[in-house]
Amino acid sequence: MSSIIQLLPDHVANQIAAGEVVQRPASVVKELLENAVDAKATDIKLIIKDAGKALVQVIDNGLGMSVTDARLCFERHATSKIRHAEDLFSLHTKGFRGEALASIAAIAHVEMKTKQDQEELGVHIIIEGSKFVSQEVAVLPKGTSFAVKNLFFNIPARRNFLKSDTVEYRHVVDEFQRVALAHPKIHFTFYHNGSEMFNLPPATLRQRIVTIFSGKTNEKLIPVQEETEIVAIQGFVSKPEFAKKNRGEQFFFVNDRFIKSGYLHHAVMAAYDGILKDGAQPSYFLNLSVPPNTIDINIHPTKTEIKFDDEQALYAILRASIKHGLGQFNVAPVLDFDRDSNLDTPYHYKDLQGATPTIQVDGNFNPFSDDKPNKHFSNYKKPESTANWESLYVGLKQDADDIAHITFENEEMTSSLFNDEEIEHSVHKTYQIHKKYIVSSIKSGMVIVDQQRAHQRVLYEQFLVNMTVHQASSQQLLFPLNLFFSSSEMELIQDLQVSLKNTGFVFEENNTDHIVISGIPVNVTESEVSLVLEQLLGDLQDGIPESSFSQSDTIAKSMAKSLAVKTGTHLTEKEQENLVNGLFACKDPNVSPFYKPTFITMRVEDLDKKFAL
Ligand code: ADP
Ligand code: MG
Repeated sequence: MSSIIQLLPDHVANQIAAGEVVQRPASVVKELLENAVDAKATDIKLIIKDAGKALVQVIDNGLGMSVTDARLCFERHATSKIRHAEDLFSLHTKGFRGEALASIAAIAHVEMKTKQDQEELGVHIIIEGSKFVSQEVAVLPKGTSFAVKNLFFNIPARRNFLKSDTVEYRHVVDEFQRVALAHPKIHFTFYHNGSEMFNLPPATLRQRIVTIFSGKTNEKLIPVQEETEIVAIQGFVSKPEFAKKNRGEQFFFVNDRFIKSGYLHHAVMAAYDGILKDGAQPSYFLNLSVPPNTIDINIHPTKTEIKFDDEQALYAILRASIKHGLGQFNVAPVLDFDRDSNLDTPYHYKDLQGATPTIQVDGNFNPFSDDKPNKHFSNYKKPESTANWESLYVGLKQDADDIAHITFENEEMTSSLFNDEEIEHSVHKTYQIHKKYIVSSIKSGMVIVDQQRAHQRVLYEQFLVNMTVHQASSQQLLFPLNLFFSSSEMELIQDLQVSLKNTGFVFEENNTDHIVISGIPVNVTESEVSLVLEQLLGDLQDGIPESSFSQSDTIAKSMAKSLAVKTGTHLTEKEQENLVNGLFACKDPNVSPFYKPTFITMRVEDLDKKFAL
């Protein structure tokens, strides 16, 4: 029988390996930055075009390479960083697999220039899809420059798989920030399409954090420091009152390498136990130094996961040192984040006159009778796509100006739930149970409304109407609000400005690290503004939708989520009633903006059946 096994040619093997190492432009950024750090550079420039899809270039002033090494570094398993298997247990560098450059060269156009300090001349190499195109001697400064162009030019499937520039850019920024935070002593600059995005001069960790995440971060930071035989911990955590809605600012570094660890994250959260609001996320920037032979970083090709020898001890030490840090700064054991519900205006309808509508009621209308199918009560199915939601708002036109009108516009629905008798005798028409559900009697039985979801639906439709049908009115602030954001968050806000303006926000001027807001939407209070924007930024981690319609949709959803009255809030009878009326005046009252049921009904017959047992 003939043999069928063959060795794969190198360039094919490299392309396959590339799949593991290079998923997107940000992967190239990570590998090149880490190589520059390993080469002991003190000044590193990152230059990208089109979110890295067209170009990723890293220029360093590090050790450079000899002519032979310059050629060799593109071979698979070519590394200067380990020689023996044992070296794996005493690693002080980021790279060691000798895979990255071979992989990158297999799937892009690479141009490298490098010169060692002691040499007169350097070398300039061009390599495309693993093929050497040229090699020349050149006059160069000390250090190395890698330019990686047209990523995935020879693998269209992968190229097409890349996300929008906004999303890819975010990933690049994430990688850049991770390396920059791990090495505050190194000067980093970052240019995107010719504009300087970051310029981070050599600094302490605290200064570096503040330069990256805006000046306001400084007051949020509490230092954490601990030295034991197993681990030395150094870094900062945020005061609990500055906790965020999302996990954007959480960084662990182990021996100057960014890592992800659910286990260590848990230790941090345990230290905050009892002082954080549900779901709130502290920021942390923590450097753990451990002896290299007590960790195994070999378990993942892109090396963001790690295995520690003595995980349990590490957990305990980390938790204790953060608790200690928080204690030293007199962070009160329990902070009351809950807003005084009396100060809330849970929904717009609250103060409107005429909450008891004078409407034409069809007393005989029965939403449950089979011969009169009512689309509002049909079982809701999550739509395959949201492409058609715009049609919900077509035709509302200027009528939308009169919110009260909208409230009761959908008369058929309202009338089907509350018969005239019940509407007239509005005393005890609704009951709130467990500060969560609103129960009300209807002709056919009872309806139970989930207050939080219902209010989300009401607000969501209001915001959408405001944004899509006409310019929302805004309330002028007496004193403009200054809100500070990191530069990447500022980018997102810039991109969203038009949509935000449509909701009623008025922006005064644009700065690099903060926005000045002089007007806010009518149904948002001043104290809620930063909450709303933070939630929105958290919801946009995966990028801004391209179309303005889906942008509005995302913003409306996010704002509805932040502003809706929460489970656990007491509602007055009037508020309950208005909420129920508001819900059934919605175009799509059955589900929350997140496709969760907003209410259930129970027919008298169903109740009878239960009692018959
Ligand atoms: P690794 O970093 O795992 O060793 P790479 O493929 O990333 O593998 O790099 C291969 C080798 O090329 C490195 O070991 C190093 O010797 C050399 N090299 C890569 N980038 C640089 C740089 N910016 N400056 C100096 N040498 C470099
Ligand atoms: Mg490397």
